[in-house]
Amino acid sequence: MANTPWQKRIRRAEQLAVQHPFAAEILGFYIHVARFQQTLYQRLESVSASKVPVSSVGVLDSPELLASFPSFLSLLEEKAPARFAKIARDLRNSPSNSWSNLLNERWAEAGNPPDAPEEFLAFAFLQPYAELVRFRAHLQLDGYFHPLCPFCNRKSAIAVLRPQGDGARRNLVCGFCLCEWEFRRIVCAGCGQEDESKLPVYTADQFPHMRVECCDACHTYIKSVDLTKNGLADPLVDELAAVPLDLWAREHGYAKLHPNLLGL
Ligand SMILES: [Zn+2]
Ligand SMILES: [Zn+2]
Repeated sequence: MANTPWQKRIRRAEQLAVQHPFAAEILGFYIHVARFQQTLYQRLESVSASKVPVSSVGVLDSPELLASFPSFLSLLEEKAPARFAKIARDLRNSPSNSWSNLLNERWAEAGNPPDAPEEFLAFAFLQPYAELVRFRAHLQLDGYFHPLCPFCNRKSAIAVLRPQGDGARRNLVCGFCLCEWEFRRIVCAGCGQEDESKLPVYTADQFPHMRVECCDACHTYIKSVDLTKNGLADPLVDELAAVPLDLWAREHGYAKLHPNLLGL
């Protein structure tokens, strides 16, 4: 049965791939990545707690993590879309100090979301490690209502509406360490705009539980997953699957607040 978060995400990705054939390829790739991430997380988890840092800053100091990178590159060479597969092959043929530089940069560069293909690849590889380090840090989130991730300081990649009383509260989710924290509903997480007339929300019949929350002040958007409408949704996976909403937002001049794991 699906017990770990990865098993749940994989099962949800399998369901959505059947439901949305246009997203089958991207979800198929995600499933390979998620299986690798699960194995990596479990391997790192078994490393004694004292060897895992509790901070998201500083140099990556995990020989176990770095030693796993070549097998991640091999997986991508075999399963990833062409542009990622080529980068993975080039990286595997380059000296290992160039990998550790790339990984260290991605780990430390909270202010600059990944942009180039190799940065996404490093981001996806480091994600389970960030999740583990954040989990072990036992963050206290009471009273935290800021737009940046309380653990790793990144912009949020996903918003979630969770049932609360008769309505819903909005949470933001970090796409890296997967921290989730509360954030006011009618405020842009990019620039702090509070004027509701400048914060249009778009929906599409195809995804009744998904919303595109836009800001006409800073021209960014974030996709939100409405769990009050679909309690089976998984924020990370449902966000990945709703690719047409990203295309729609881009066509309308909005840039994503923070790209997702697969670079969309
Ligand atoms: Zn984070
Ligand atoms: Zn804004």
